[in-house]
Amino acid sequence: RAEGNRLIDRDGREYIDAVASLWSVIHGHGHPQIVEAIQAQAAKLQHSTLLGISHPSAIAFADSLVRHLPKGLSRVYYSSDGSSAVEVALKMAIQYWVNQGHPERKRIVALDMAYHGDTLGANSLGGPGPFRDPYEPLLFEPLRVPNGYRYRCRWCASGPECDSSCVDALRDLLEARGAEIAALIVEPRVQGAAGMIVAPEGHLSSIRRLCDDHDVLLIADEVATGFGRTGEMFACDLEGVVPDIMTLGKGITGGYLPLSATVATDRVYDAFYDLTDRNKTLFHGHTFAGNPICCAAALASLRIFETDPVLVRVRERAAFLGTLLHELFADHPWVGEIRQQGLMVGLELVRDRTTRESFPAIDAIGWRVCMAARDKGVFVRPLGDVVILMPPLSIEEEELVQIAEAVHYGLREVGKGHDTVD
Ligand code: PLP
Repeated sequence: RAEGNRLIDRDGREYIDAVASLWSVIHGHGHPQIVEAIQAQAAKLQHSTLLGISHPSAIAFADSLVRHLPKGLSRVYYSSDGSSAVEVALKMAIQYWVNQGHPERKRIVALDMAYHGDTLGANSLGGPGPFRDPYEPLLFEPLRVPNGYRYRCRWCASGPECDSSCVDALRDLLEARGAEIAALIVEPRVQGAAGMIVAPEGHLSSIRRLCDDHDVLLIADEVATGFGRTGEMFACDLEGVVPDIMTLGKGITGGYLPLSATVATDRVYDAFYDLTDRNKTLFHGHTFAGNPICCAAALASLRIFETDPVLVRVRERAAFLGTLLHELFADHPWVGEIRQQGLMVGLELVRDRTTRESFPAIDAIGWRVCMAARDKGVFVRPLGDVVILMPPLSIEEEELVQIAEAVHYGLREVGKGHDTVD
């Protein structure tokens, strides 16, 4: 069971859901308004296709969503999970150029260490490693540019400030090969699955400017960052950036049901709208895309953003959490970097803070720290040796204290026997 910000196991033990059930729960578990909306919609119309007809729930949510999106994103295409939303974005970007008479623009640019999902197209965009390597024969190769990973940046990690060399690398690529590129895809401001890597301020708007200069479409994958996580409704809002295509998932229904969306500008939409040429259609569609119950949940979740000061609370909680983490971990010998954007946090654990040397993967330090934290009633899950904290936006201050102290306890327990930690 679950209640509010807590998961309850079969023996009745409670755990704070410090990863928001894989980054999806927004207003907490069992929120009465979302539960009621789901029940009411299930009794009215549980499913009907969006192929050839529509239904009020899908229309109402799209209409509401557009009012919250960065201005200019006006068209909504539904799928059922984040990966599918990314597949649609890729197909949209490629076909956009085919429909415009430029089939030669067929390359996609992705950032180092990107993660955009586990289906084949999305998987192709991911960095090398066990999530990608075995499926190599089925994947396409994107063009790669460096990400803004200050802590391990090949150019400016040891300097006092970011010198924007990663943006220069993108500029060089676009100058050399812009005419063959359809789109660049980015996780705006925070690369979640890479370990909550927070890009330097201005990184996203520089990417937008360069894409504009070279007429390359910008796809912002907000599957993880969307719906308030970063302190703004969307991470793009942090820098006033409007992408050409945006992907949404995870928190879109408040974390209650599977739904995702690929949203686009009129410019993109118009390239597909041609009553005289059927081949310009985006031939893609999933059976349960825009399911009425999922859309009703999504609408109810969005209403809570409209009636409650959710974003104000996120910023307050984020500031509180930031102070807490610095008090507890800034001098900890195993905590190399504390990364935070809103309520998205990564604590990168390292064997040596001076050299930034990682622990051997086989030691599974991150995993062991998180398992130990469960003794203190906190469910937290690492990505490698980065401890991820991404609680529901409804998290309370006392719960944040419990989360931080549980991680501290986990570090102490795993540190026993290591001479670098007391
Ligand atoms: N895009 C990003 C940025 C993600 O973080 C994820 C999942 O973590 C996905 C896409 C894939 O979403 P899903 O797991 O719903 O397919």
